[in-house]
Amino acid sequence: MENSQYCDLHIHTIFSDGLYQPEEVVRKAKELGFSAVGIADHDSVDGIERAIIEGEKLKIEVIPACEFSCLMENKDVHILGYLLDYKNQSLISFLKRVQEKRIERAERIIGNLSKQGIKIEIKRVLEIAKNGAVGRPHIAQALLEEGYVSSIEEAFMKFIGYHCPAYVPKMEISPNEALKIIRDFKGISVLAHPISYDFEKIIFPLIKMGILGIEVYHPDHTEYHNQYFLEIAKKYNLLITGGSDCHGGRKGKISIGEIKLPYSYLENLREKKRQLFLDI
Ligand code: AMP
Ligand code: FE
Ligand code: FE
Ligand code: ZN
Repeated sequence: MENSQYCDLHIHTIFSDGLYQPEEVVRKAKELGFSAVGIADHDSVDGIERAIIEGEKLKIEVIPACEFSCLMENKDVHILGYLLDYKNQSLISFLKRVQEKRIERAERIIGNLSKQGIKIEIKRVLEIAKNGAVGRPHIAQALLEEGYVSSIEEAFMKFIGYHCPAYVPKMEISPNEALKIIRDFKGISVLAHPISYDFEKIIFPLIKMGILGIEVYHPDHTEYHNQYFLEIAKKYNLLITGGSDCHGGRKGKISIGEIKLPYSYLENLREKKRQLFLDI
């Protein structure tokens, strides 16, 4: 492959908390000149097939992925599963259960908000989520619509962030469980946006647990972080990935294509998959 080929391996769609349809993501990535695009919704693989069909039309590769939410030391840690068998019925059933738990959790958050005199309806939150994995960004949107806040960011700061009284954690899957699920469904596990956590504390246990890669390139990382995570990746022989983590503007800016990951990193993921599972 030529060096001039790029991919963006981390994008959300309406099947979790992104604003774009899967086809729109693929079209935009194609327009921006990318060779491959990773659909990586939170706890969902439901957008992948539609993206792949669009990708076949437009001649751009679609890389299946899922961003699993796990709890580690009581904090949310996101682990990406790349190239996993997204059609497997057991995986789909597992994710369906996770999504049901997300709805129960949204109801509890709304209950907590109501105790503070803040009234939003679960029905509206589910409409905003459009049948995708329901999350706090959808609750934030409802708070915005009802005029309780003037931005999504403010909703997280005032009402639904970690340290707010209305906060409720998600279904607790441990990183070990997430790594096992990703392995069972022939995927490659990658720690998402390491900057989001107390990185020094979690990366080494995750490496011991067998995580295979690290998202070195992410819009939240500075050049310093890129270098730092790159060195860790090299030292511990981890695969390197990167992506825009685009939510289609829900997190303030439309970032699709902000990260241009050289295509060779995708080939490394594929090669790892071939080695581990003797197929592709
Ligand atoms: P949840 O999975 O329901 O806990 O929601 C987490 C998601 O909310 C993350 O994946 C981000 O997309 C989004 N998010 C987290 N913190 C913020 C923030 N401060 N402002 C806007 N979006 C956020
Ligand atoms: Fe998100
Ligand atoms: Fe994430
Ligand atoms: Zn993400």
